[in-house]
Amino acid sequence: MSKTVWMTAKGDRYHAREDCRALVSGQQGSDVQGYEVQPVEQISEDEARLRGRIACLTCGSPI
Ligand SMILES: [Zn+2]
Repeated sequence: MSKTVWMTAKGDRYHAREDCRALVSGQQGSDVQGYEVQPVEQISEDEARLRGRIACLTCGSPI
């Protein structure tokens, strides 16, 4: 059973924590810059890797 991770549609990272600082600040940055804020998607780590995402360095994702 793969663990659950979070990612946004446009990010290239997946996050081990939904409240990861990098994830949250990315969302706020989009808002400030006038971009559409991407919804956070909750998927399995396997699925995230299949989509070519890499683990976020801020929250880490121990294998
Ligand atoms: Zn993260």
